[in-house]
Amino acid sequence: MTTRRILVADDNQQIRLLVGAALRSLGHEIVQAVDGEDALQKAISERPDLVLLDVTMPKLDGFEVLRFLHKQPETANVKVIMLTTAAQQDDLKHGADLGCDEYLTKPFDPKALRVVVEKVLAELES
Ligand SMILES: [Mg+2]
Repeated sequence: MTTRRILVADDNQQIRLLVGAALRSLGHEIVQAVDGEDALQKAISERPDLVLLDVTMPKLDGFEVLRFLHKQPETANVKVIMLTTAAQQDDLKHGADLGCDEYLTKPFDPKALRVVVEKVLAELES
């Protein structure tokens, strides 16, 4: 399996720790961002292969970050998985319209997370 760099952007530290541990166990390298601005900066400076993007974050929300990522040439092709809560189900269409690759509804278990992440990363191989 190829080691990938994954940016985990969520303002909830518990989520960042859970996601980070689950994905490190697959051998991936994890970078964390604590809000939307931090996510954008790290997407540019760290050049992740994949961004896990929380919807509700301070400074810039996940949809704004997604829009910026796709606008900038350096990050236009990065894979994005949105992290939403059940209350934000209506947002999923919005995310799909903006071109996110997948989404996960919180709370999710580590196994479901790993399955979705590996599916999206597999698209990078082809
Ligand atoms: Mg949040």
